[in-house]
Amino acid sequence: MAKNVCAICGAEVNLFSGQQLADKNYICRKVCAKKCLKNFDFVPATLDEVRSHIEQVEKGTKAWNQIFIPLQKTKVKEEKLKRFGSDIYVSPSTGLMALVETRYKFIVFGKSQFACVYRIADLAAYEYEQEKVKNSEGKEETKHYCHLFFHNTAGLYDFRFNVSNSLEYKKLAEYFDKMFGIEKTLGNAMNNAKKQWAAIKDVAGAVKAAASGAEDAEAKAAQAAESVGNYLEGDRTELIAKADAALATVK
Ligand SMILES: [Zn+2]
Repeated sequence: MAKNVCAICGAEVNLFSGQQLADKNYICRKVCAKKCLKNFDFVPATLDEVRSHIEQVEKGTKAWNQIFIPLQKTKVKEEKLKRFGSDIYVSPSTGLMALVETRYKFIVFGKSQFACVYRIADLAAYEYEQEKVKNSEGKEETKHYCHLFFHNTAGLYDFRFNVSNSLEYKKLAEYFDKMFGIEKTLGNAMNNAKKQWAAIKDVAGAVKAAASGAEDAEAKAAQAAESVGNYLEGDRTELIAKADAALATVK
């Protein structure tokens, strides 16, 4: 059997003790692969991506312990955490959210938690997914998932987690739509139409300025792009500032 070494710690690995990555590097299952969350998929990942994810988990676990754990006990209504499924915690007061993995140590009856912490403002998409699977008795059952995708994030930025049913996904979608100010209900159709109109006017202004060779064409175009972005995703400036301030306190 061919021998390989773990590209991170240098330990010797074989077919069973090593995990091969997309770029043909190996990492050891015993130590280095355990630094990754179970949501992380090694098969399409490169060594650089694994390193980014390990760093993300180290920082995220610190942020979880220093920011989220104290907030679990808060009596202040605005600071309370919102939980989706068993693994996702949202902290609206700090602009952060966490994917948490709890590992139980059977020998010492303790548990330890590992986390990736994200800026809520980087949440770019949330979608419902379902899959039919056969359970241990051979009966078909439906698994429900919520799929999340983050921008501006190195490491694990695209993953899904279990929810009990599609209604739980709907609650999550409504929660974030409201936070981002992108309610697509009929009650807000007028509001959205107005925002869209403002964005279109900005683009029209930029096109005109560019055509006439005006000096401020670049600034106008940048403002137009921001207006369209804000229309589609909501204005996230405040959320970004909150999240960066909170993350700066993590030691
Ligand atoms: Zn290793």
